[in-house]
Amino acid sequence: MSYSYEAPVSQALFDRASLVTPGGVNSPVRAFRAVGGTPRFMVSGTGPYLTDADGREYVDLVCSWGPMILGHSHPAVIEAVQAAVARGTSFGTPGEGEVALAEEIVARVEPVEQVRLVSSGTEATMSAIRLARGFTGRAKVVKFAGCYHGHVDALLAAAGSGVATFGLPDTPGVTGAQAGDTIVLPYNDLEAVHEAFHNHPGEIACVITEASPGNMGVVPPRPGFNEGLKAVCAKNGALYISDEVMTGFRTSKAGWYGVDGVAPDLMTFGKVMGGGFPAAAFGGRKDVMEYLAPAGPVYQAGTLSGNPVATAAGLAQLRLLDDAAYEKIDAVSAAIRTLLTDALAKEGVAHRLQTASNMFSVFFTDRDVRNYEDAKKQESFRFNAFFHAMLSQGVYLPPSAFESWFVSTAHDERAIERIAAALPSAARAAAEATEVSA
Ligand code: PLP
Repeated sequence: MSYSYEAPVSQALFDRASLVTPGGVNSPVRAFRAVGGTPRFMVSGTGPYLTDADGREYVDLVCSWGPMILGHSHPAVIEAVQAAVARGTSFGTPGEGEVALAEEIVARVEPVEQVRLVSSGTEATMSAIRLARGFTGRAKVVKFAGCYHGHVDALLAAAGSGVATFGLPDTPGVTGAQAGDTIVLPYNDLEAVHEAFHNHPGEIACVITEASPGNMGVVPPRPGFNEGLKAVCAKNGALYISDEVMTGFRTSKAGWYGVDGVAPDLMTFGKVMGGGFPAAAFGGRKDVMEYLAPAGPVYQAGTLSGNPVATAAGLAQLRLLDDAAYEKIDAVSAAIRTLLTDALAKEGVAHRLQTASNMFSVFFTDRDVRNYEDAKKQESFRFNAFFHAMLSQGVYLPPSAFESWFVSTAHDERAIERIAAALPSAARAAAEATEVSA
């Protein structure tokens, strides 16, 4: 199949969008600013494929940034959604679907004794932090540079250089007061965490970390890192919050907890558990969760929390995610990783392919990437050339060198063959890229 690279219909839609929406998009990375070019406006998705407004089909390696783990338009999910919609779209009362989804999460993830449903990952982390502060009566939060927890004001604070630096607002609109209780540390550096607790005795409410980061590219925790976080939190009366919005129900049946077995005090979920709808959650220890209103004093609420359509989609998706599904996803991921690294090696392109279960990303560098500083040192201009070569051949990658790639149970032989066919020239484009040409 040959692909023209022009996308006139997408471009026209983007021009229209740019008049009425800031930057033409409703979430910044969709605008292709990092890689350049015209963002593709998608009109439909089936299995591992997306079709854009110009009628071109792409193998999708973004999967809506994680949620579409069964591929697009999975019949069982569509059927559950249609049945739910036919009963009504929102009641503002409790409903059985919410109970069933909560039971499914509690059954899968042992440290989660109770769970509260919300509508986005951002809401989940924001609420978990509030709860941790309310429960401990402390203000400070430790986060790691390069970890993304949604656009919560206090968590948008990124790296300051040095250990235990107070986070400064990284974006206009986040005030010093909002970020002033955030301590930003380098990822994978347990010493820095010990030092922060030493410097702020009795002040730290919680440490929040991505269970295995995928938002600076894939940078898994070093052996013992998550265990160390849990131990230092327990010793100092702080809560250990594992953000599994990305890894939850993706990296295994029980998410990253199912991989490393380190039990957090609180966990956050989103993406996969919503089946492509806005459903997310936070949960954990019962004694902590019972601090939430109406059981306890910490307020948290939502008009559309536990929405019946979203919970039906999430539940239908989770129920199909059995051991065989994860075996399939792992196998697809392994097959693509092998093709990718072979193609890059053949062209002599220095790279590190990093994995966390079935999540992976490629860094254009010859060094291991253990934190955000390392990630930033890659030659991302090579990624941009690689990205556009893949796009022009009908493979849709995350439009940034700092994002995980996602696969699904729907990625079959035909989809993998398409990726295999596109890789050699994309690897060549990466090899030939120069900073100026990007
Ligand atoms: N936490 C993590 C680890 C994420 O990857 C994301 C989104 O990518 C979020 C939180 C925020 O989730 P949402 O975009 O649903 O608000």
